[in-house]
Amino acid sequence: MENIRCLIIGGGPAGYTAAIYASRAGLAPVLYEGMEPGGQLTTTTVVENFPGFPEGVDAIQLMDGMRAQAQRFGADIRRGVVTAVDFSERPFRLKVDGETDIEAQAVIIATGATAKYLGLPSEQKFRGMGVSACATCDGFFYRKKDVAVVGGGDTACEEASYLAGICRKVYMIVRRDVFRASLAMQERVKNTPNIEILWNCNTLEVLGDESGVTGARLSRKDGKVFDISIDGFFLAIGHHPNSDFVKEFIDTDENGYIITEGKSTRTNVEGVFAAGDVQDPRFRQAITAAASGCKAALEVEKYLLSH
Ligand code: NDP
Repeated sequence: MENIRCLIIGGGPAGYTAAIYASRAGLAPVLYEGMEPGGQLTTTTVVENFPGFPEGVDAIQLMDGMRAQAQRFGADIRRGVVTAVDFSERPFRLKVDGETDIEAQAVIIATGATAKYLGLPSEQKFRGMGVSACATCDGFFYRKKDVAVVGGGDTACEEASYLAGICRKVYMIVRRDVFRASLAMQERVKNTPNIEILWNCNTLEVLGDESGVTGARLSRKDGKVFDISIDGFFLAIGHHPNSDFVKEFIDTDENGYIITEGKSTRTNVEGVFAAGDVQDPRFRQAITAAASGCKAALEVEKYLLSH
């Protein structure tokens, strides 16, 4: 069975940065990229807040660059999903794609987070036919059409602003009478003429026919139920950390985010570290994920030296 010194699970900013540091430290890291190589960032277009790129940088280019940088120092980056783990003893045992067994001396979990859905049957029915959790991936299909974005956080505001540049009209469906988003983002959407904010509204049903989404039925806090006519229905209501596959061994909080010790990336299992959005319910930025990937690799280096 293959025995890996430093195994990194997840190909986003955290995983690739961990791979850059671990490979430069001579730890011969192997990284499994999972189902979304490049991570969540590849579902956006331009990244404007990653330091070093005054004009912004294409998200895919940024992630390709991180991957290539890790490979330049010898990181072994592979396609594949880690489907099961056994952290009960060392070396740790893991299964890739449900069939290949591997062993690892140290593990960095950097599997990120996945978008949440409302849980309506009609939403699932029209997934991919007008229902999407990524405006920047799918917005292009709704040029000059009317769409809705659900949520009142920074993501929802960002996605609504992006869609407003492509679509004729954008409804924001906000369940309270305030945004959760930062003031700057709130101002941006409030000042965009083709964004209409529907306060105190919840979605009862996504409406559609064989051609896809045609509308949404909403209920307002005052009891009013009404329909809006739309072609696209975008979810932006937060994320679920991808930690289910390690939960038997690794402590998580009530939302599934992996608990790390203080300022460290250490988990409750010695030799297993967590970096990026899977352990960060708060900041969830590419730059903070990259930083924690760096920390995890430095901690693995120290751990392997002392074991
Ligand atoms: P948030 O958790 O911040 O916001 C989620 C939003 O969705 C809230 O308005 C919430 O409402 C609403 N919501 C949740 N569940 C439902 C539901 N079932 N029905 C209707 N509405 C619902 O998630 P985000 O993804 O927006 O942001 C996550 C983190 O990432 C935040 O810290 C944010 O600041 C950060 N971020 C930063 C960006 C940047 O700096 N460029 C860009 C994007 C995100 P309620 O308020 O009532 O709970």
